[in-house]
Amino acid sequence: MAASLRLRGAASGLRYWSRRLQPPAASLAAVCSRSMASKTPVGFIGLGNMGNPMAKNLMKHGYPLIVYDVFPEACKEFQDAGEQVVSSPADVAEKADRIITMLPTSINAIEAYSGENGILKKVKKGSLLIDSSTIDPAVSKELAKEVEKMGAVFMDAPVSGGVGAARLGNLTFMVGGVENEFAAAQELLGCMGSSVVYCGAVGTGQAAKICNNMLLAISMIGTAEAMNLGIRLGLDPKLLAKILNMSSGRCWSSDTYNPVPGVMEGVPSANNYQGGFGTTLMAKDLGLAQDSATSTKSPILLGSLAHQLYRTMCAKGYSKKDFSSVFQFLREEETF
Ligand code: NAD
Repeated sequence: MAASLRLRGAASGLRYWSRRLQPPAASLAAVCSRSMASKTPVGFIGLGNMGNPMAKNLMKHGYPLIVYDVFPEACKEFQDAGEQVVSSPADVAEKADRIITMLPTSINAIEAYSGENGILKKVKKGSLLIDSSTIDPAVSKELAKEVEKMGAVFMDAPVSGGVGAARLGNLTFMVGGVENEFAAAQELLGCMGSSVVYCGAVGTGQAAKICNNMLLAISMIGTAEAMNLGIRLGLDPKLLAKILNMSSGRCWSSDTYNPVPGVMEGVPSANNYQGGFGTTLMAKDLGLAQDSATSTKSPILLGSLAHQLYRTMCAKGYSKKDFSSVFQFLREEETF
């Protein structure tokens, strides 16, 4: 039911959004009556795997929260902790002038901002709206225009680092938007991350994130292929990983997140590929890279192959497993 609600809502959001695609009217100079470094309530929308620990880190830093998620169960923990739960993104915008969104896809972000009960329905002038979801940079730019028309500020701030980093407050934020608002964003993002990097105009945070994840997917597939080949050639996987990690083939996928069960402890491959960064989310991010490559006429031969591979994995039952399960997929796909 939640899924159908989301789709219905998303469709209305898209319609509303497309009607409003005109150049921004309001001047940013009119924006910004927010007080800096104050512990006024912060809105948080999207309390899933990442949003939940991120919002908790804001609480630890003393920020009262106004929270919303389409899945009411996701808000329960926050209600029990005394935070205010409301029934729509518009209600969040009515009560908070700084809002963070952490949603799965572009469609969900459009719905949360421009939907029937979206943020834009009740956003206050001068509000700072930070979207930490990984979405299409073109969507971030359009949302920024809509927000600007309402006299508020939008920044994209997608994250690198998984659920573990979100819990520890160690995320890296890649931030795009008006530079003189960066300090205000940093005040909040610094409670949830150890690095907050300004990337440039709106959409450049998403651009950095998409490039990183495309490279990550390619390096993970390469590591899985090399490890599988070495094992077939009779090498011990731990020894092969050790040699790769002292040689020119070393990368994050080989030395920090090795995809072969038994090579490392505390990584998804040691736990039947549970937890971590899901194959569906990786397929989504590679789709964003594919769209961005098409619109900028950039050749991404390996990125495209990686996209097809992760899509195929989703169709073959790997969608809920960590993306390093590409190693298991390669082994199971082999025919002799
Ligand atoms: P998730 O699916 O666990 O959580 C998303 C939450 O948003 C869910 O609770 C869902 O009910 C809620 N939601 C969906 N549509 C909504 C709407 N219109 N209004 C309010 N709530 C809505 O996803 P996640 O793993 O937390 O990922 C969030 C984003 O962060 C994604 O874009 C993902 O690509 C990115 N990301 C994830 C990871 C990771 O390791 N999981 C790492 C880096 C970046």
